[in-house]
Amino acid sequence: MSAAVTTAEAEVFDVIVIGGGPAGYPAAIRAAQNKLKAACIDEWKNFDGSYAFGGTCLNAGCIPSKALLESSELYHRAREEFAVHGIKASGIELDLAAMQKRRASIVKMMTGGITALLKANGVKAYQGHGRLLAADQVELTGPDGAKTVLKTKHVILASGSVPVQLKSVPHDGKFIVDSWNALEFDAVPQRLGVIGAGVIGLELGSVWRRLGSTVTVLEATDQFLPMADQAVAREAQHHFKKLGLDIKLGAKVSSAAVSGGAVSVSYADAQGEHQLTVDKLVVAVGRRPFTEGLIAAGVGVALDARGFIAVDEHCRSSVPNVWAVGDVVRGPMLAHKGKEEGVMVADLIAGLYGEVNYKTIPSVIYTAPEIAWVGLTEEQVKASGRAYKVGSFPFTASGRARAMEASIGFTKLIAAVDDDEILGVHIIGPMAGELIGEAVLAMEYSASTEDIQRTIHAHPTLSEGLHEAALAADKRAIDAINR
Ligand code: FAD
Ligand code: NAD
Repeated sequence: MSAAVTTAEAEVFDVIVIGGGPAGYPAAIRAAQNKLKAACIDEWKNFDGSYAFGGTCLNAGCIPSKALLESSELYHRAREEFAVHGIKASGIELDLAAMQKRRASIVKMMTGGITALLKANGVKAYQGHGRLLAADQVELTGPDGAKTVLKTKHVILASGSVPVQLKSVPHDGKFIVDSWNALEFDAVPQRLGVIGAGVIGLELGSVWRRLGSTVTVLEATDQFLPMADQAVAREAQHHFKKLGLDIKLGAKVSSAAVSGGAVSVSYADAQGEHQLTVDKLVVAVGRRPFTEGLIAAGVGVALDARGFIAVDEHCRSSVPNVWAVGDVVRGPMLAHKGKEEGVMVADLIAGLYGEVNYKTIPSVIYTAPEIAWVGLTEEQVKASGRAYKVGSFPFTASGRARAMEASIGFTKLIAAVDDDEILGVHIIGPMAGELIGEAVLAMEYSASTEDIQRTIHAHPTLSEGLHEAALAADKRAIDAINR
């Protein structure tokens, strides 16, 4: 078929989802589970030219980064921490090619799994570009350029986000790169520069530092991890410094240029102008919503001032029957947030109940120590003026953490004085991302501090930290001194 020919399909879908990332594919699956005729269109192409469902998260984000974080942490522990367990290990060597092969095979397995899930649920999966022509029409451009108009009753836009680029630091894909390139380096850069000490900067900086790079992170703001509870941020900063991440705060980058196989970065901070030379420079200064080529002119889907598709609390756009979910709409850019929005919308379309509790979305930074939180930080609670109490329990007092040789960090719980409501839980330490689930559930069920105090936690486990932090909030901790 010639690229100029446009055909129209006779079948009418109930729901077409544009975007097959962690917001889009769950929406399509739930729609099909709700007995709706559903399709999912995705255009993601990997560096080798292959199409894959799963979006940023599976192909270039959550999954590959966690694979490398795990591998690099094991390498680091084998070299630095085995001895204390009485394990003599010699000749430990890095085989980066094997590590990267493992990362790629996990990604392939997981993205293949999405294709299988779509099929098993009866979702029609299309690879190619989707464009909203009208509230009930989507134009599909297939890999061969052929255009087909698909008819539908509802459309869910789930086109995700792309990395922000700095005009003064033009990417070349080889020396000045984004996070996707930085996950696929085939050699450990001797000197790595990272612009942005956000989640990506810290996770990828940790990976390459553990594998041997000298890592310098240039962060524009003066405050480290401003979105986190500041007691956690201080603890994290201390341990990242010990790992050897050189994090420079208040560093304003003015330019970067490649010459002679290296990158020269100019930046200024309170001490004056500086020059930094690195072998690779990763730009990780945030992501922006991706809507290019998504909506035909005149459809009327409104964007907000920052370029996100404007939606209400139920992810309805400004056009009836057009919905938007995930990174392309307001709220934290997190896979699990997008997933819940996608599921909510698919349920609402089917006439079922659907809600996302934006107050209990957990955040996790998969560094070592790991950082996780849900709810308000102490700074936010203080600013709200509500009287509060804090309970904290250090992992140094946890038998399990000691046994794991992982006794860094603490669990901190913040609760209201008036009704004992849990307002926030912040964990820095081993398996924080797993441990936060209990706090999310507690807050979702409106549990009080006393409820956690009266819940039996297995001994010895890391989860006892939350139990003891809840007790500590009322100065009744058993396994630590109450302050
Ligand atoms: P995306 O995952 O970006 O998917 C959108 C999909 O839509 C893409 O496949 C895109 O190609 C496709 N698309 C766009 N426009 C069209 C169109 N017109 N037609 C057809 N297809 C289209 N989040 C976490 O929660 N935990 C983590 O550990 C985590 N780690 C991360 C690590 C890195 C390095 C990065 C970059 C991100 C990470 N994130 C993490 C963030 C997470 O990846 C995103 O929040 C999540 O992928 C957003 O999901 P989404 O479905 O909204 O968008
Ligand atoms: P981010 O918003 O977490 O961090 C960006 C950092 O760059 C900020 O600290 C910001 O102050 C800094 N910055 C911005 N402009 C700068 C400049 N010109 N010079 C120096 N510093 C500058 O963004 P990110 O790390 O790029 O991650 C993007 C998104 O992906 C985040 O929203 C995050 O939620 C998501 N993500 C999540 C995870 C996770 O859940 N573990 C992991 C990776 C990414």
